Amino acid sequence: MGRAVQKDDCNFISLSSIHRESRNFVSRIIRDSGVNPSDCYQCGKCSAGCPVAFAMDYMPRQIIRMLQLGMIKEVLSSRTIWLCAGCAACYARCPHNVDLPRLMETLRMEARESGLVAEKKVRIFEDLFLRSVERYGRVFETGLIIGFNIKSGEFLKDVMLGPAMLTRGKISLLPHKIKDGGSVRRIFARARELEGEQR
Ligand code: SF4
Ligand code: SF4
Repeated sequence: MGRAVQKDDCNFISLSSIHRESRNFVSRIIRDSGVNPSDCYQCGKCSAGCPVAFAMDYMPRQIIRMLQLGMIKEVLSSRTIWLCAGCAACYARCPHNVDLPRLMETLRMEARESGLVAEKKVRIFEDLFLRSVERYGRVFETGLIIGFNIKSGEFLKDVMLGPAMLTRGKISLLPHKIKDGGSVRRIFARARELEGEQR
């Protein structure tokens, strides 16, 4: 499964052996995620237990390998970082406690910054989901579905499911706001501040 990583195959790569630009990138990834790709010794347990591996273009193990090798563009333009569901099955299995979900999250942020987003629909969904939570304190499913269909150009996607979901109370026509929505909005504002400080 997954494409071959076509570079030399020694186990540990020190950051000093890769190009300066890639080295700076990896240093930033280490700072932002707290995960050092050099901690991975390529045992493959993460990839073997990943429930989404079948759909990925590179296995989780290969993503780390490419970081070790300084293959930044390949990592940021991969589908894998957007398909990772953050389930942490890999983290639980890793003998070296490499926090892959955290790493994938940081790589998604970098991919956004650099405009190398391979899974545009995942990004559309993520943006709409977060905007909905910021606005209402929780996700407004109907608004999310309509917004996603419009932005992704799939106007009629799942439209036949709407009436049944409405009558069964699975979704509602109006958003339910939480009591202290202001505190959620403050969390978002603080996260933006922190992001700005780190750039
Ligand atoms: S399980 Fe951990 S050490 Fe093994 S390949 Fe995956 S990240 Fe690397
Ligand atoms: S956190 Fe991501 S990479 Fe790790 S097992 Fe889950 S889906 Fe796979």
